[in-house]
Amino acid sequence: MALEKTLVLLKPCTVQRALIGEIISIFEKKGFRICGMKMMQLTDELLSEHYAHLSGKPFFQQVKDSMRVAPVVALCLEGVGAVEAVRALAGPTNGRNANPGTIRGSYCLSFQENIVHTSDSHEAAEIELKRFFKPEEILDWKQDTFSSLYAADEF
Ligand code: ADP
Repeated sequence: MALEKTLVLLKPCTVQRALIGEIISIFEKKGFRICGMKMMQLTDELLSEHYAHLSGKPFFQQVKDSMRVAPVVALCLEGVGAVEAVRALAGPTNGRNANPGTIRGSYCLSFQENIVHTSDSHEAAEIELKRFFKPEEILDWKQDTFSSLYAADEF
């Protein structure tokens, strides 16, 4: 499998609930390399692009507004099979249906206020990383624990 990068947004609900450190810590402990991280106040314009696939839904504006009540923390995470692994760690969209071991299953009871956004495919990850990060904000540092995280034939 290949090393991949993916986008995570810690949503305003997470910032409000003082869970930033706790959620970042879950990704760190899993073994992902944090290659980009910043706090951002999102705009309605950017959210219209980011959530364009929901534009026909009755909750479109409400979801966008919920993403503007406080800043988000944007993370670029890297790991082997990272796109799928981060999605699995986040759990399904509705926190009420998410297994307790997942982030959404452990930290929320809501469909909308569901702690994190995570890219849902390789194509989406590539587009979304460009949407939230400038190239120079993605840092290429060497993770020294690599041989403790993966077997030699896993990357
Ligand atoms: P995901 O974030 O799991 O990739 P979607 O891309 O389908 O899910 O939806 C984007 C966000 O919109 C969700 O994370 C959630 O905050 C909100 N959302 C999606 N579907 C609903 C719904 N039926 N009711 C309320 N909020 C929703």
